[in-house]
Amino acid sequence: MFRKTDPETIAPYLKDASNFSEGQASEVIIPETREELVAFLKENKNSVTLAGAGTGLTASRIPLGGVVISLERFNKMESVINGTLRVGPAVTLKDLQSHLKNSGWFYPPNPTESLAAIGGTLATNASGARSYKYGTTRQFVLEADIVLSDGRIASVRRGDTIDRPLQLDDESTINFPSVNFKSPECKNAAGYFVQPGMDWLDLFIGSDGTLCVFTECTLKLLKAPADFLSAILFMEHEEVCWKLLEKIRGSEESKISPCSLEYFDRRSLQRLKQKFVNIPEKAQAALFFEQDVASQQEYDLCLETWYGFLEKEKVLLDNSWFAQGPKDIEKFYDFRHEVPLMINEENSRLGRVKMGTDMAVGDEHFKKMMEFYRDELTASGLDFVMFGHIGDNHLHINLLPDAKQMSLARETYATLVDQILKWGGTISAEHGVGKLKKEYYHKMIGDQALGELREIKKSLDPQGRLGMGNLF
Ligand SMILES: Cc1cc2nc3c(=O)[nH]c(=O)nc-3n(C[C@H](O)[C@H](O)[C@H](O)COP(=O)(O)OP(=O)(O)OC[C@H]3O[C@@H](n4cnc5c(N)ncnc54)[C@H](O)[C@@H]3O)c2cc1C
Repeated sequence: MFRKTDPETIAPYLKDASNFSEGQASEVIIPETREELVAFLKENKNSVTLAGAGTGLTASRIPLGGVVISLERFNKMESVINGTLRVGPAVTLKDLQSHLKNSGWFYPPNPTESLAAIGGTLATNASGARSYKYGTTRQFVLEADIVLSDGRIASVRRGDTIDRPLQLDDESTINFPSVNFKSPECKNAAGYFVQPGMDWLDLFIGSDGTLCVFTECTLKLLKAPADFLSAILFMEHEEVCWKLLEKIRGSEESKISPCSLEYFDRRSLQRLKQKFVNIPEKAQAALFFEQDVASQQEYDLCLETWYGFLEKEKVLLDNSWFAQGPKDIEKFYDFRHEVPLMINEENSRLGRVKMGTDMAVGDEHFKKMMEFYRDELTASGLDFVMFGHIGDNHLHINLLPDAKQMSLARETYATLVDQILKWGGTISAEHGVGKLKKEYYHKMIGDQALGELREIKKSLDPQGRLGMGNLF
């Protein structure tokens, strides 16, 4: 086990991809085995913040005192067995994808940031562009080895439901408290996942580093598609893109069946034009889609069907981009990844604080949501960009206030939250709550539910040692 105490070597663990700067810790502990981790947790009583790769956007891995435990040495990756893969939490998505390359297998969750580690993606129930079809990380975890804050160990598998007590290695058990709270039905990553009769695994996944340490897990893989039909479609008006989205989702044509649907508003394109000079001059909005296909023949048929479909729509078809091979697919991913990166870079250059939304609603509110965002944001006079997972009614709005507009930006954010909650939506569909979205999360679920979630936390971590300051 390594221990770091020198402020300079601790400094990288006091950051993530948010701009939270209040991190502090007395020590960073880097266990090399589960036994070392367990021994540390049993012998010490400090509060513990768990560190993955630090790509999180909600400061959830940034400690507010106590020690950091970094799982960076837990990077084992086994061979694929019958479509399952056993990995350690430090394995990054990038390493996982290269491990699977040419294996015939495929791990669908693809949050845009491929440097994220599996442990972090489990703790945040990460999702990405392809979640539109495949779902989130939760759907692809079959089993996880966990350690509780007092050093007790459990192996939780699919089928171990909360109706039965959680069995721990020392023969002790934990009962799931009686709660009325249920998580919303739309895509959601805010707070603990709670549904009647769910598996214990579902609770631990998405628990934001507050209930357990993941030390190993078994992931479910799918047969790799032969290829992805992939395109970036450009349009002259944002509203055209919204209408097109509804038509794609409503299409009964089986060959129009995308796995990703990602949006870029006018302001995102303005920024992207600096790096991607071929973006058509007239383009004011774009839609990136991908569709997995099982064979070359299916690829050709789907391409033809998409062309026929799009010809009837107001898409700048001749100037849109259709991937000609894996290099283009990579380029389209860079295009998508570039938006938050450019905004982050712009914020640091201008000394601007990032204020990003991550909200979603059910399909029935999509159109009203887009119109509301347009009207509210335009009226606010703030600069902003809007992009992201439009297929799931899940857009990221980055408000870009100058120093004098901070309170206006906060008010605008609060207005957006209020309306999304009126529609039964969530304040976080993928990044989680962490330390930055607690106020909105409490508004979302209310006092009674918050009390129930505290009971869940107390049953698994009675001393409140894990993830201090996250969620509660
Ligand atoms: C440019 C960019 C784009 C992004 N796009 C997306 C996106 O499309 N979708 C998405 O979901 N996210 C996205 N993110 C956010 C981020 O990549 C995810 O939240 C990711 O899951 C965090 O993983 P990490 O390893 O970096 O975790 P960290 O940031 O290190 O930690 C996140 C949380 O996980 C906990 N944790 C870490 N390891 C463990 C463990 N072994 N056991 C228990 N808890 C643990 C931490 O305590 C913390 O609460 C993006 C980030 C960036 C910078």
